[in-house]
Amino acid sequence: MNNTVNDIDSVKIGDFATQLKGKIVMASDDTYAETRKVFNAMIDKRPGMFAMCTDVADVIASVNFARENNLMVAIRGGGHNGGGLGLCEGGLVIDLSGIKFVRVDTSDNTVKVGGGNLWREVDSATHDFGLAIPAGIVSTTGVGGLTLGGGVGYLSRKYGLTIDNLLEAEMVLADGSCVTVNGDQHKDLFWAIRGGGGNFGIVTSFKFKAHPVKTVFGGPTLWPIERTKEIMEWFDGFIHKAPEELNGFIATLTIPGPPFPEHLHNKKFCGIVWCYLGDSDKVDEVFKEIRSRAPLFEHMGAMPYPAIQTMFDGMFPPGMQWYWRADFFNEITPEARAKHLEFGSRIPTPLSQMHLYPISGAASEPAKDATPWAYRDAKYAGVIVGVDPDPENADKITKWCKDYWEALHPYSAGGAYSNFMMDEGEDRLRAAYGSNYGQLVAIKNKYDPNNFFRVNQNIKPTLTEIKS
Ligand SMILES: Cc1cc2nc3c(=O)[nH]c(=O)nc-3n(C[C@H](O)[C@H](O)[C@H](O)COP(=O)(O)OP(=O)(O)OC[C@H]3O[C@@H](n4cnc5c(N)ncnc54)[C@H](O)[C@@H]3O)c2cc1C
Repeated sequence: MNNTVNDIDSVKIGDFATQLKGKIVMASDDTYAETRKVFNAMIDKRPGMFAMCTDVADVIASVNFARENNLMVAIRGGGHNGGGLGLCEGGLVIDLSGIKFVRVDTSDNTVKVGGGNLWREVDSATHDFGLAIPAGIVSTTGVGGLTLGGGVGYLSRKYGLTIDNLLEAEMVLADGSCVTVNGDQHKDLFWAIRGGGGNFGIVTSFKFKAHPVKTVFGGPTLWPIERTKEIMEWFDGFIHKAPEELNGFIATLTIPGPPFPEHLHNKKFCGIVWCYLGDSDKVDEVFKEIRSRAPLFEHMGAMPYPAIQTMFDGMFPPGMQWYWRADFFNEITPEARAKHLEFGSRIPTPLSQMHLYPISGAASEPAKDATPWAYRDAKYAGVIVGVDPDPENADKITKWCKDYWEALHPYSAGGAYSNFMMDEGEDRLRAAYGSNYGQLVAIKNKYDPNNFFRVNQNIKPTLTEIKS
C-alpha cells in the first residue's frame, strides 16, 4: 500500500522542492486545477503533487523522493494517454513537459529529442532539414508515450513504426540510476522500451533515425457510409500491395462541420486519409485506382509534411471526453465489414470515429520478437474512439464504442495496440503482447521488481514467471 502525499511531512516536501530546478505544484496551489488536466477530460484523477521537472537531475530527485517515501508515481509526457496513465490518485506526478529539446544531426540524419517533447515540436524542427521521424497522425501527442508504446502513423509503411527508428534512450530507473540503452548497452532494456511502455523507467532523451521527407501528397477521400463494405473490401486488397510510399488509414466517421463543405456536414462516411511520400510526377498514376472508386468528395494536394501531421489537430482540441477500444486485425472479413457498416451508420456524436491503420511494408518487416510489439503479421491496428465535448454524452459515446468493439472483436487477431487501450486489465494486456509478454515480465523483474513504475499498461513483476 502506498502513502499519499498527504501522509508526508511538510518539511520533507519542502526539502524536496528545494532540490528541484523546476517547481512543485500541490493540491492547494492556484495552478493545480490547470496542471492536473490531461487531453482526455473523462479522466478526473487528483494527484497529491506534481514535480515539474526541467532536467535529468530533477527526474532523479523525484524518483528518489517517491521511492524513499513509498509514494505512487505517474510519469506524464504529452498527457494524451486515453486512460489517463500520465496521472495517479494521491501520489506524485513526474511531469516531463519542461524537458524539451530537438537536436538534429545532419551528418548521420539522427535526432535527439527530450522526454517531454510533443511531436509537433519535433516535426517542425526536423522539417527545416528536410527530415522526419515516423510518428502518428496528429501532432499534439507526446513523444514519450507514443514512442514507448510503438508509434503507428503516416510513415509506417515506408519507414516502420516509431520504435523501429529508435536508436538510443537515456533513462532514469527505479533505483534512481541513470543509464544509456541502445543496441550495445542494456540491450534487454532497449528491447523492452520499444513497445513495453513506461514500465521500465523514465526516458529523459530519445535518439531517432530520421528520413528524407519534405513534401507529401495527401488528404481525405470520402464515400457515403452505405458504400462501407465495398470500399473496405477494395482497400483490403489494395493497400498492402501499394508502393510503400503510399499510406492511408480507413475510417468510419461523421463530417462534423467546417472546414468541410456544408453539404457534407453531419453526414456519415467511410473515409480514407492518404499520405504519399513518393515523386510528385507519380501522383496521378498512384492515385488512379483510388479515384476510380469514385469518391463523393476528395480534398487532396501537395503539402509540407507538418501540414498533414497537424491536419486534424484543430478538430480534436484538448478537453473533450474520449472513450477508447482497440484490436489488431489480420483482414477485414465480410462479417467485420458488415459490423463497420452497422456501427458506422450509428456513430453517436460528430467526432466519434473508427480507424484501421495498415501494418504492412516496413512496419511488418521486423520479426515478432524483435521488439515487444508482437503483431507485426497483423494487417491493421484498429481503434474505435467515442469523442464529444459534452460530459453529458460520456455514457452515450462509451456505450457505442464498447458495443462496436464487442461486435468486431470476434473477427480480430485477439489483442490490441497498447497505446490505443484504456485500463482494460491483465488479460487484455497479455493479449496485447502475445508471446512477448514473458520476456517483458523477466525484464521488469530485473529492473523494477517492486513495480515502482506501475501507472502504465502495467507488466506486473513476478519472479515465478521469468522465462525466455
Ligand atoms: C488525438 C490522439 C491521436 C493519437 N494518434 C496516434 C497515432 O496516430 N499513432 C499512435 O501510435 N498513437 C496515437 N495516439 C495514442 C498515443 O500514442 C498515446 O495516447 C500515448 O500514450 C501518448 O503519449 P503521451 O506522452 O502524450 O501520453 P502520457 O499520458 O503523458 O503518457 C502515456 C504513458 O506513457 C508513459 N510515458 C510518457 N512519456 C514517458 C517518458 N518520457 N518516459 C517514461 N514513460 C513515459 C506514461 O507514464 C504513461 O504510462 C493518439 C492519441 C490521441 C489522444
